[in-house]
Amino acid sequence: MISIPMARPIITEDEIRAVEEVLKSGMLAQGRVVEQFEEAFAEYIGARSAVSVCNGTIALCAALKSLGIKQGDEVITTPFTFIATANSILHQGARPLFADVDERTFNINPDDVLEKVTSRTKAILGVHLFGHPFDVQSIREICKDHNLHLIEDCAQAHGAKYSGKRVGCSGVGCFSFYPTKNMTTGEGGMITTSSDEIAEACRLLRNHGDSGKYFHTSLGFNYRMTNIQAAIGVEQLRKLDGFNEKRIKNAEYLNKHLMKAEGLITPYKDERVEHVYHQYVLKVEDDFPMSRDILMNRLQEKGVGCAIHYPLPIFKQPLYQQLGYDDAGCPVASELANKVLSLPVHPALTEDDLRYIVEVVGDMA
Ligand SMILES: *Cc1c(COP(=O)(O)O)cnc(C)c1O
Repeated sequence: MISIPMARPIITEDEIRAVEEVLKSGMLAQGRVVEQFEEAFAEYIGARSAVSVCNGTIALCAALKSLGIKQGDEVITTPFTFIATANSILHQGARPLFADVDERTFNINPDDVLEKVTSRTKAILGVHLFGHPFDVQSIREICKDHNLHLIEDCAQAHGAKYSGKRVGCSGVGCFSFYPTKNMTTGEGGMITTSSDEIAEACRLLRNHGDSGKYFHTSLGFNYRMTNIQAAIGVEQLRKLDGFNEKRIKNAEYLNKHLMKAEGLITPYKDERVEHVYHQYVLKVEDDFPMSRDILMNRLQEKGVGCAIHYPLPIFKQPLYQQLGYDDAGCPVASELANKVLSLPVHPALTEDDLRYIVEVVGDMA
């Protein structure tokens, strides 16, 4: 019985040895290994500082909070993302405003962002969805013109580039190291910034506002990463480019073999970007021989893992309906939610896995 999962982290003796060293050192919580991971990550991204935290959701919350986002403020974001993106805005008491997405890249559409800016807008929170960077240049220009902060949700795009620069170095970058992401620490998150002020604000938030030994200057929390997680992160970061190359090769193989199937649209890639294929997302159009949901069931019956990222735009989630959001204003996101289907693309796939995926999808086409 064949069973190909949607994601599988690659953990080798390297990570096991690194964790063993930390365990034997007795320094289990935030310490020198965390610092080492932060320095390596900042250098990799091309940002002055990297501040680690306990997960990606907290990275977003800390970034927004450190920028002063608060009750009464509005933050423009995409409705086509994992719910953590928008929830991090709600957690500040602020209001997410949803701008529609581009039908090819699935990313926030700068033209619609401009339509949604009001006098209460304080920031734009863009998501580099599925590993494809959003239009950083246009979004940055809007931020400049309207005096808005830029936050990049990079949870799905470690190592991706826009115009030759890695994502997470244009605004305040927020990363997740959950096991399904392009690199992992089990749970974990990182904020990248070239502002010393924001880095320091995030460090204070992370550790009960402690600016010296038991000298608390502001209200903070415990958002710390442990040396155990960081030890895994240091090893994973070394391998990240290799993981991403494998994802790109896998995506190119799937593209080559699925491109001609009628009713299937393979992922788009803008010329300016380096796409790291966190997910490989097809659009299943009306002229495909069966519905998207039936196709998904058939693939799963044959052991090909697949998923819908995401079945609902965020404004249609029950929580957001309760908050009074209506469905108007983002027709592209609503349509995409009915069409998208993700196939496995992770670096642990074998050639046999890839051949089998193409064969099974081909049989349905
Ligand atoms: C995974 C993810 C997050 C949240 O990260 P966690 O580490 O799971 O808290 C936020 N935004 C996006 C787009 C994600 O994919």
